[in-house]
Amino acid sequence: MSLVRQFSSLEEIRAVVGFIDDNPVGEHDFSGFVGYYRLKDSLSCCVRDGIGLCGQRHQFGFVVRLKDDTASIVGNECASTKFGANEHYRSSRQEMEKKLALRSKLAGLENVLQNRETSESLLAQAETALQRIQEFKDELERMLGPLIVKALSSMAKNSDGRVVARTITTRFQKDKDGKIVDREDNVEDVVVGRLPSLSALDAQRLRDLSDRLVAAKRAFSRIDTIGRRPIAKEVTYLSSTISRIEPTGGEIAKMSAQIKSFLASDLGLLSFLSRNHKDRVQAVIYAHAKNGQMISKAVAETWLEQLTEATRKRLGVSAVRPV
Ligand SMILES: [Zn+2]
Repeated sequence: MSLVRQFSSLEEIRAVVGFIDDNPVGEHDFSGFVGYYRLKDSLSCCVRDGIGLCGQRHQFGFVVRLKDDTASIVGNECASTKFGANEHYRSSRQEMEKKLALRSKLAGLENVLQNRETSESLLAQAETALQRIQEFKDELERMLGPLIVKALSSMAKNSDGRVVARTITTRFQKDKDGKIVDREDNVEDVVVGRLPSLSALDAQRLRDLSDRLVAAKRAFSRIDTIGRRPIAKEVTYLSSTISRIEPTGGEIAKMSAQIKSFLASDLGLLSFLSRNHKDRVQAVIYAHAKNGQMISKAVAETWLEQLTEATRKRLGVSAVRPV
């Protein structure tokens, strides 16, 4: 494919074979693009205007080939407004834009290759972090019942992190002898605490992140074989895939931070996320395990009773239980 040249001075432009100063270009003289320029100094546009030249001063324009094989210059604005209707001009321009886009992507790839070590170490870090997240999720699912995991997932989606419990406040009516004649239960759901939300429980999201890392890894191995005749589509794919390493790593790091703050929070609250007693005891065991303490079921039972009682007192109610 022919190159689109970039000119950075009038001298360079004048060196183009067949270039003539003040060479008038009409719409039907246009044969093709030689290249483009963005200069600090302005040049005078050579589009034919009546019997003279347009003469508009401009800094961004094109070196064009005429049908008589000479070359001249055209300002960007005139090119669009005066030649824009010409089919041949339009397709040449599109072709040039494509080549320019490809070139800037190749430059992007070049840049990626120069920072390859950094990118690849970012990729490796992200892979390790994602693996730890997956392990955390597997362990959570293994140790807690499905009800609690489901509750945590829905908390992650609603992202408010509130742990709600049902409280019952009982009032007794007594007669003048102190004998209970009536009782009234007032039921109210209250927030007993908050747990940081875990986006790590979103399996689809974990798969997406993993897919992106796998694609980046493949891109690195393919980039070496691209050679000198790059295919635009492939270059686009590779540079976009590799450029996603950093944001993907960022998302993964955010997830890891969530897990860290989850583990540092009051995990006893997990026992309020299921009504199932076995789940609640399991939650207590998990909370202790994450604190480095292995406890038996019996100890967990006692702990759960104490927690419930402490929560009841703190809230000033007659009874408290999961919703
Ligand atoms: Zn002009």
